[in-house]
Amino acid sequence: MSRVYNFSAGPAVLPEEVLKEAAAEMLDYNGTGMSVMEMSHRSKAFEEIITTAEQDIRDLMGIPDNYKVLFLQGGASQQFAMIPMNLMKNRSADYIITGQWAKKAAKEAEKYGKVNRIASSEDKIFSYIPDCSDLPVSEDADYVYICENNTIYGTKFKELPNTKGKTLVADVSSCFLSEPVDVTKYGVIYGGVQKNIGPAGVVIVIIREDLITEDVLPGTPTMLTYKTHADAKSLYNTPPAYGIYICGKVFKWIKAQGGLAAMKEKKKKKAKVLYDFLDQSRLFKGTVEKKDRSLMNVPFVTGDADLDAKFVKEAKEAGLENLKGHRSVGGMRASIYNAMPYEGVVALVEFMKKFEEENL
Ligand SMILES: *Cc1c(COP(=O)(O)O)cnc(C)c1O
Repeated sequence: MSRVYNFSAGPAVLPEEVLKEAAAEMLDYNGTGMSVMEMSHRSKAFEEIITTAEQDIRDLMGIPDNYKVLFLQGGASQQFAMIPMNLMKNRSADYIITGQWAKKAAKEAEKYGKVNRIASSEDKIFSYIPDCSDLPVSEDADYVYICENNTIYGTKFKELPNTKGKTLVADVSSCFLSEPVDVTKYGVIYGGVQKNIGPAGVVIVIIREDLITEDVLPGTPTMLTYKTHADAKSLYNTPPAYGIYICGKVFKWIKAQGGLAAMKEKKKKKAKVLYDFLDQSRLFKGTVEKKDRSLMNVPFVTGDADLDAKFVKEAKEAGLENLKGHRSVGGMRASIYNAMPYEGVVALVEFMKKFEEENL
């Protein structure tokens, strides 16, 4: 067996320790004589798994008691609809468009109400984060929506927008649990876990209690009503049980390493190696404005599509996988999530140096 360095944007690398633990427990979880995949979600063993997972993410993020943590299905994309269905009391919301995911979310919300695109960076192919300190936030907006880390373009909000008192809703799929966060600044924080936390199939929604009501848009399905899941502690129906179990293990793994402050230090150290190289390289260059750079997704190009393709191919042969950029931008992208070891980034940079020498 040999593991590669997997730079995929998602589903993405998971901590090796977690995978080994899960493997060891595959046939007999904690003396139950069955795997977590095979057990009832109403069993004592699973109840303990989900309760512990919730407590651990609460501890990690310092989630206040007036916020619920929901483990749902449907991916981040389902939230694009669930958010307006539950939150659009005035049928109006403001969206800040910093990439494809925010764009898709805004388009979906348009099915339910008026969407005001109050800022956008589409004019420069989403290569920066617009100044959001004094936006024309709509008087009647039910919320202001952002995608906090733009997985495809490699930008991140370093400062949250000034929402002028409106509820902030954030898609944090690709920066979840990568740094300490002040949950009280948000009404809703959500993310698909397959980027930085666990296996595909789980989306975690952290939502302030006053936003969970029965007063949802007419026709909202039971399954798409936050209250359904909040009241049932994410056990209204069968939850994505195995995925939640793995997420729980990842929470423990993060805790053991020192929590979110440690994750932040780790990501800074890894991203620095890669960005420092890009900034002095004669062949490769980064594609976004320096001040807005994501420390999780790092896109870069040579400027020559054939050379980019050659790079991706040769990198793969060297055990550095999934470096091809998103199909909408081309070039390369290295996703360096929490579980990517520092050594993986060093190996990538060493390979880039060698490639540069051979191809200049
Ligand atoms: C991947 C991604 C999504 C889509 O996630 P799905 O779980 O596939 O629906 C949405 N937003 C962001 C920021 C993402 O990175």
